[in-house]
Amino acid sequence: RDPEARKPAWLRQRAAQGDKYARLRESLGELKLNTVCVEAQCPNIGECWNGGGGAGGEGDGIATATIMLLGDTCTRGCRFCAVKTSNKPAPPDALEPLKTAVAVASWGVDYVVLTSVDRDDIPDGGSGHFAETVRALKELKPTILVECLTSDFRGDLEAVASLANSGLDVYAHNIETVRSMQRIVRDPRAGYEQSLAVLKQAKACKEGMVTKSSIMLGLGETDEEIKQTMADLRAIDVDILTLGQYLQPTEKHLRVREYVTPEKFDFWKEYGESLGFVYVASGPLVRSSYRAGEIFVQNFVR
Ligand code: SF4
Ligand code: SF4
Repeated sequence: RDPEARKPAWLRQRAAQGDKYARLRESLGELKLNTVCVEAQCPNIGECWNGGGGAGGEGDGIATATIMLLGDTCTRGCRFCAVKTSNKPAPPDALEPLKTAVAVASWGVDYVVLTSVDRDDIPDGGSGHFAETVRALKELKPTILVECLTSDFRGDLEAVASLANSGLDVYAHNIETVRSMQRIVRDPRAGYEQSLAVLKQAKACKEGMVTKSSIMLGLGETDEEIKQTMADLRAIDVDILTLGQYLQPTEKHLRVREYVTPEKFDFWKEYGESLGFVYVASGPLVRSSYRAGEIFVQNFVR
């Protein structure tokens, strides 16, 4: 059976339009920047790049884009993720932090999410590489806001701290799913407690640090388990939560157990905010960095 054919109407993708989107798209080609937004054909690109105003509207808000560091090959193999994997990916490009910073600074985006594959083959998991990119970017363009969406660095809390202290604005790490589903969904080197420890450490590094996490729905988790995961994230003061529908990337990946309705996603937003999250982005197509710049500026910048 074709999984596409089973998808409900609310998951149909919209074509991206909008002036800011068009400008960013045009200038991107010359910069040799690989954005996750384009590479992964993210359905939110119109909203994120226009900085609001909907998929087709002209946004006057904060444009967000996501950039992948440390190559395209991951040392882990999570069962929901279509990224290429290998035990020995090519070594990182030592010039990538500077090259990325120069390109992003000249690009016209206001808020950038730096993310990466997991690099268990590098002693610090790539934390130093991320931190160097943040520092170079902030030096070249002090007004840019930077979120780092990181791996768990195998629970290396020093690696977490050195990145958290690099000058970034938001520290994001995704717990991905509820406790009982961790071993089914994520690579065995990841884990629920380890992810909570990463977020707790990031929060403790700096007064006012903003932390963020994400849960995929539709993998077979129960409502009670979702509530428990939210409570566990709130107990370590995570500020922003995003919830989106899991979609099966290929036939080899985990099957979708449930298409959660838009109404249920609205319920989870309200429920999450009642627990004290400053902001919950919740919807079938919501992804971790969905409208991240607007959300940050509206809720944390005064
Ligand atoms: Fe890019 Fe993330 Fe927005 Fe998708 S959700 S368009 S990857 S910033
Ligand atoms: Fe994909 Fe991240 Fe898992 Fe690697 S660690 S397989 S990039 S989800």
